[in-house]
Amino acid sequence: MAIERTLSIVKPDAVKKGAIGGCLSMLEAAGLKIVATRMLHLSKAQAQAFYAVHKERPFYGSLVEFMTSGPVVVSVLEGEGAIAKNREVMGATDVSKAAEGTIRKKYGTSIEANAVHGSDAPETAAVEIAFFFPGADIQDYARSE
Ligand code: ADP
Ligand code: MG
Repeated sequence: MAIERTLSIVKPDAVKKGAIGGCLSMLEAAGLKIVATRMLHLSKAQAQAFYAVHKERPFYGSLVEFMTSGPVVVSVLEGEGAIAKNREVMGATDVSKAAEGTIRKKYGTSIEANAVHGSDAPETAAVEIAFFFPGADIQDYARSE
């Protein structure tokens, strides 16, 4: 499998739970390398734009409100099959369906407040990474075991 990059977000619910480190630690433990990271508080316009794909869904307004309810931590993760691996470690969207050992099972609260975001495909990963890291803010380093 190819080396990929994907976008991760620790959402406001997990930040408020003091679980930034917990979420990122589970991703790192799965072999994903953090090559960029920063904290920000999304504006309403940013949250609307980021989740524009969901704008016709009934939960869109609530999702935008949730995502702007506090700061988030956005990161670029790199590794073999990083997109699928991140999704696997995150667990199911609906926390009540998330498997044991996943981030959402451990730190999520509901189908909306589910602790983390992860890109779902190479195309969306590229768009989402550029959304938060448009410049050359991505680092290159070798991970040692
Ligand atoms: P995922 O984050 O697993 O890729 P989606 O892309 O389907 O899930 O949805 C984006 C986000 O919208 C979810 O992570 C969650 O925060 C929220 N969401 C999804 N479905 C619902 C729902 N039925 N009710 C409320 N919020 C939802
Ligand atoms: Mg999604």
